[in-house]
Amino acid sequence: MALNFQAGFRLSLYEKRKWDSPLLEPLLNSRIKPETLDAMWHAVAKGVPKIKQYIDAKKKLLGLDKFCWYDQSAPIGKSAETYTFDEAGEFIISNLAGFSREMADFSKMALQKKWIEAEDRPGKAGGGFCTSFQVSKQSRIFMTWGGNFSALSTLAHELGHAYHHSTVQDIVPFAAIYPMTLAETASTFNELLVTDAALRKSTNDGGKLMLLDQKLQNTHTLFCNIYARFLFDKAFYKERGKGLVSKTRLNEIMVESQKMAFAGTLDPDEGYHPYFWASKLHFFMTDTPFYNFPYTFGFLFAAGIYNRAKNEGSSFAPHYRALLADSGRMTSEQVAMKHLGVDITKSDFWNEAVERALADIDPFVKLAGKA
Ligand SMILES: [Zn+2]
Repeated sequence: MALNFQAGFRLSLYEKRKWDSPLLEPLLNSRIKPETLDAMWHAVAKGVPKIKQYIDAKKKLLGLDKFCWYDQSAPIGKSAETYTFDEAGEFIISNLAGFSREMADFSKMALQKKWIEAEDRPGKAGGGFCTSFQVSKQSRIFMTWGGNFSALSTLAHELGHAYHHSTVQDIVPFAAIYPMTLAETASTFNELLVTDAALRKSTNDGGKLMLLDQKLQNTHTLFCNIYARFLFDKAFYKERGKGLVSKTRLNEIMVESQKMAFAGTLDPDEGYHPYFWASKLHFFMTDTPFYNFPYTFGFLFAAGIYNRAKNEGSSFAPHYRALLADSGRMTSEQVAMKHLGVDITKSDFWNEAVERALADIDPFVKLAGKA
């Protein structure tokens, strides 16, 4: 009922506004054109079949006959590598410095000024988040230090958010609010940078497998799980336009969407999750319809920028900073055109970003074969 009434309310409102598509509001929120969204999903759908090789290798490692929904986040490999909070900070700073002295100095300052509350204490959950203050021009990070690579990666991620905020802190407030599609650019960029550095540093196969699996699990989620959510919302809104949609029908739409999006990477008989629409809070966000595609967009956009940074080195750093600074006052297409010289309404940019994400599969399969 909650899902039906929320969608029904929106559809009535859109009708009064003479908006003919339920995608109009989420596209406006994300500041992207419909053709950009199409180009992105087209590239993703084209790349997904390759993920089957990763899942097959993972199945072997886990000793499974069938790969189901609940197997997706089963851990693979292990790393003996532990870090103290200070060591993680130094690792992040030294690797950022290879790309941009300014970014490294910013993170150093945030750590020195104790902008991060990371104490691991009873009752405090995992994860992390960053919040920024317009007037004081500062940020604060709240996270729980776990002492492993995942915690290091979270710290790098949140420091990326803080850095992004620092690039817009002197811009008038209404031109400094960036859409969700661009909000994860700096955080994902930092994550990619430290993961690559850790992969280069890692000397044992178990550690490498773990790092590659962490990246590929993320890719699998963003390419398949998020796409399934998008396909579900699209089909659901279409049916909701004709009346209430029953629980049985919601389950059917969910499985159909998962079948299409996961493209054979889950077991055809037992692999799907028909009640995902009920268990995932993202379907119930009152202020954000289609709370899904911005994740995949953000990931691929950041991956594209990261690749540019890798190719061009530190000379790209000022462009990267300028791109972030413009993220609150331009559409995503304008940001991409001005700072990367690419037309994201076309598939080329997305194809390249998808291929790069899938490039982790071959080394993973090779290592898995040795294990
Ligand atoms: Zn984030």
